[in-house]
Amino acid sequence: MLTLKNQFSDREELVAYVRSLAPWAEGRQSIILGGRQQAEIKLHTLDPIAYATTRNYGDGSVSRLSPYIHHGVLSLNEVRNHALILCKQPEQITKFIQELAWRDFWQRALSQNPEWAWKDIEPYKTGFNAEAYADLLPEDIAQGRTTVGCIDAFILELLQTGYIHNHARMYLASYIIHFRRIKWQAGARWFLQHLLDGDVASNNLSWQWVASTYSNKPYIFNLENVDKYFGKQVDTTAKHNRVLDASYEELHLQLFPNVRLKV
Ligand SMILES: Cc1cc2nc3c(=O)[nH]c(=O)nc-3n(C[C@H](O)[C@H](O)[C@H](O)COP(=O)(O)OP(=O)(O)OC[C@H]3O[C@@H](n4cnc5c(N)ncnc54)[C@H](O)[C@@H]3O)c2cc1C
Repeated sequence: MLTLKNQFSDREELVAYVRSLAPWAEGRQSIILGGRQQAEIKLHTLDPIAYATTRNYGDGSVSRLSPYIHHGVLSLNEVRNHALILCKQPEQITKFIQELAWRDFWQRALSQNPEWAWKDIEPYKTGFNAEAYADLLPEDIAQGRTTVGCIDAFILELLQTGYIHNHARMYLASYIIHFRRIKWQAGARWFLQHLLDGDVASNNLSWQWVASTYSNKPYIFNLENVDKYFGKQVDTTAKHNRVLDASYEELHLQLFPNVRLKV
């Protein structure tokens, strides 16, 4: 059995060693650092009270703890207990605790139904059956060259850092599945290749939720929504985001012409 080296004189030596173990991996190295010390630094900047009102915004008070939680550097209990110390009333941090609970829920749902990882749980509620969706992720998406400004920005951040905000994950998943009509499995596989917190339960079941194979309706978004939440971070000009620049009614008609819009 191969015994892995675990002592290094500096980060460069560590990175070179990891590269030698995985010569097939792409050359990118995230700016996000691993390890307990970094996890504790992030934990101490946590603001679970501001989280409730700002979490959907690109510059909101999200924790960025998911890579550490995923790799077992922090437990959900430890994060919850730390958040409780930071508030006067537990009600102030309900939203944050609820999100931690989502992670626990997805883990339990998948462990009880392992086939949900890659199989559609239910049919799509989009007016199309699964065969209407492409199997493979096109290269323009994989490389972040779709020409849709905000989408390309989110993809480049994913490729360069291995982390993107929850809302950006929802936008990307929706763009891939509904605007490009690609199977959720292709997008989920691609996310798992790049996310530092890439986790089959949270990832794949979230993709199924966006797709509508694990929810009552497909999740879609428009440019106005991206501008509201990410206008300061990414290009939300109409000129560079034509396909997203429409009302929800128009998008519904265009994307799901066989399904009557419920208001
Ligand atoms: C399409 C898609 C794919 C996703 N893939 C993953 C994945 O591979 N791994 C992963 O850990 N999460 C995934 N999520 C859930 C969520 O986006 C991330 O957990 C969150 O964005 C991580 O950032 P954060 O640590 O700043 O989260 P915060 O918003 O600060 O939340 C704190 C912690 O709560 C948990 N959490 C928060 N939101 C969710 C959620 N919606 N579902 C499950 N747990 C949540 C995470 O452990 C997170 O670290 C996915 C969501 C979507 C829509």
